[in-house]
Amino acid sequence: MSSLPPSTLEALPLLEPVPRGRRREHELHKLAKRLRHQVGRAIADFGMIEDGDKVMVCLSGGKDSYTMLDILLQLQRSAPVKFELVAVNLDQKQPGFPAHVLPRYLESIGVAHAILEQDTYSVVKRVVPEGKTLCSLCSRLRRGALYAHAAEHGFTKIALGHHRDDLVATFFLNLFFHAKLGGMPPRLLSDDGKHVVIRPLAYVREDDIAAYAEAKQFPIIPCNLCGSQENLQRKQVKRMLEAWEKESPGRVENIARALGDIRPSQLSDPKLFDFLGLGREGGAPLPDAHAWLAGTRDGEPAGVAAGEIA
Ligand code: SF4
Repeated sequence: MSSLPPSTLEALPLLEPVPRGRRREHELHKLAKRLRHQVGRAIADFGMIEDGDKVMVCLSGGKDSYTMLDILLQLQRSAPVKFELVAVNLDQKQPGFPAHVLPRYLESIGVAHAILEQDTYSVVKRVVPEGKTLCSLCSRLRRGALYAHAAEHGFTKIALGHHRDDLVATFFLNLFFHAKLGGMPPRLLSDDGKHVVIRPLAYVREDDIAAYAEAKQFPIIPCNLCGSQENLQRKQVKRMLEAWEKESPGRVENIARALGDIRPSQLSDPKLFDFLGLGREGGAPLPDAHAWLAGTRDGEPAGVAAGEIA
């Protein structure tokens, strides 16, 4: 069976099969460690949580927000700063929403929480024409309700469960459909300047979250209760990213890393980089944009105006 001499064979330890349960536990332990590391790094890189913060953890009942809460609770125990975590869910009154699931879960793990009730579902159904996607208005109303609660209760940070793949997908949505380079920042100030929104899962892969949520058996609430279809453009981008990843594993991670390594001097936005000043001698005059656009210089007609090109 083997060409090894008998003495070597005797010296080898007996390979006992690892029981499945223990292997799963080991895998979960490794995954949890990776998630803590990635979330901890994002928090440090973007100064997401500071001493004395009161963090409102937005919990929808989906895998992402359960994972975010779970990992933040783990990090809270060993963090170098003291901060408070409160889980907040908005019950939007979608038909069939199992209102008991989240409070029961949060009580079972002893986490401070609040359940807000606001019937945004009826508003969205009334306002959005039949057949159109509801998500845009729904999210705006949800954001409004959550921001109002945060202001009323003195939360210093609002944590959302968007992950690495959401950040990459949003980047492409903006690129393809809005002609701009921009995405979903890990830390942002709300438009009214009153709230700091953080995304602690910014470095975490969606499939790691899915595996973690499954292993932890979070009581997931399905996200199709409202009956809305996922936005078509987002679906399209998701499919594209999945195909890319299949064809070339690691591509999405490269894109995600590129989002944090931007070189304005190698793009073409004069608002971000002083191209005009590049190599300019001290007092050299700036080009006269009007003259260039009119095809003339110093009032003289240009040799070949754009319209005259054969
Ligand atoms: S899927 Fe439903 S609940 Fe979620 S944002 Fe869209 S409309 Fe709102």
